[in-house]
Amino acid sequence: MSALKVCIVSSEAAPFAKTGGLADVAAALARHLGKKGHDVRLVMPLYQRVQQGKWKLEPVPGLQDVPITLGSKRTWFSVSTTELPDSKTRVWFVRCPELYDREGIYTQDQDEHLRFVLLNRAAIELCQWSKWAPDVFHVNDWHASLIPLYLRTVYGWDRMFQSTKTVLTLHNIGYQGIVGADKLHDLGFEHFANLLHQEHLREGKIGFLETGLLYATAVTTVSATYAEEIQTPELGMGLEGLLRARRDALVGIVNGVDYDVWDPRHDELIPARYSPKDLKGKRACRAALLAKYGLAAGPDAPVFGIVSRLTAQKGFELAAEALPVVLHRQDVRLVVLGSGEERYQNFFTSLQRSFPDKVAYATGYDEALSHSIEAGADLFLMPSRYEPCGLNQMYSLRYGTVPIVRRTGGLADTVQEWNGRTGAGTGFLFDEFKGEALLDAIARALGVWRDEQAWNRLVQNGMAQDFSWEKQVRQYEALYERLLGR
Ligand code: ADP
Repeated sequence: MSALKVCIVSSEAAPFAKTGGLADVAAALARHLGKKGHDVRLVMPLYQRVQQGKWKLEPVPGLQDVPITLGSKRTWFSVSTTELPDSKTRVWFVRCPELYDREGIYTQDQDEHLRFVLLNRAAIELCQWSKWAPDVFHVNDWHASLIPLYLRTVYGWDRMFQSTKTVLTLHNIGYQGIVGADKLHDLGFEHFANLLHQEHLREGKIGFLETGLLYATAVTTVSATYAEEIQTPELGMGLEGLLRARRDALVGIVNGVDYDVWDPRHDELIPARYSPKDLKGKRACRAALLAKYGLAAGPDAPVFGIVSRLTAQKGFELAAEALPVVLHRQDVRLVVLGSGEERYQNFFTSLQRSFPDKVAYATGYDEALSHSIEAGADLFLMPSRYEPCGLNQMYSLRYGTVPIVRRTGGLADTVQEWNGRTGAGTGFLFDEFKGEALLDAIARALGVWRDEQAWNRLVQNGMAQDFSWEKQVRQYEALYERLLGR
């Protein structure tokens, strides 16, 4: 396969700026495509936190103080690059202090849309300035999804992009970048309004994501099941019609796991290393996790773990119904790491207060603790309402921590129900979005927990799963090749 030029555009990339899975996926895809010999650029904003980080940023000559007009605002951007850690791939940061020098990655500010209009336009212009014509613009989520239409309109004159294809990856359609129609001028589409979603425009709205859906050459999402689910009214979030219309261009490709970072054999963030052949280290991690929170537990009391953003998507209403019952009736422990909506934070705080000997709850964002929970827990809970892919269940499998998940999106594609008869399966699934259904799955899991031999088999099955990027990246390569007619 010949090397491709791929420009990946994302609002987040690990380790520079991360709020969730998107950051891991954008960086891993860039790294692994680079490893396979492709010429990859990863473009993202130079947020304040990146500027203040330890990165060695090199200004790109010729791409300093480039003037750009966004609606009636005149501003300037510059580009700096650095190497993506563990790779030869370069990250291209768009610097515009006026728009990006703010505390958060995302803001509620009036000009939030302009911050990402600039990202889209600067990604295209930095290719122009450096005379680098990508074979593929791979754009991620709403923040980068105006690029396909920009290439046809504002930058349509530039023959450089004549054969460039665009791939839009949907990591979560719960976030669509909807702005008022009065922003038409800011977006630069005042002469191209006829190309936007007409019905929504009449209703006074423009959606970044839907515009990408209309014009991307291909659309991917991060699991096959989610690709189906988003074509239904239940999970389509209003985009189901558009997604059905584009179903021939839509594919699901499950995210990979970065096993350089997430593998108990060499994870430096956990108290002891271990492998499927020798699980002593896992027992040490478990003991250390419980000791950290002053929770006592013998080998018979299983430890449940949760690491999550606390949002409605993650299904913690079900946890609120099921967990008090389990904690009352059973000798179990629970360690939770997560922050987000106040109602869920309050729930976990009060759960800890009601069961101080059984529950520990930590808030904030803590990379090391997230690894320690994956390693130290016996079971991992993800009762998601919807889950485009989900990473933690795949991490859990590798760490010998049995996932209990709702059968939705990527969870359905990566966890198989345990079958006591055949000894196959990697976890426990439930269908209905009900506390009872979660309780039932937990009861099944605890039944197997008491059977040491079966439990070991279940753990070994999970640890043997391979969701490596080396495998997953081939599917993106195949997609690019197909689009390019190679
Ligand atoms: P989403 O992208 O919807 O948040 P994913 O499961 O795809 O869900 O990815 C979540 C990522 O964020 C995982 O790497 C997880 O470990 C991490 N994460 C979530 N909350 C926290 C937290 N409070 N501290 C550390 N890591 C977290």
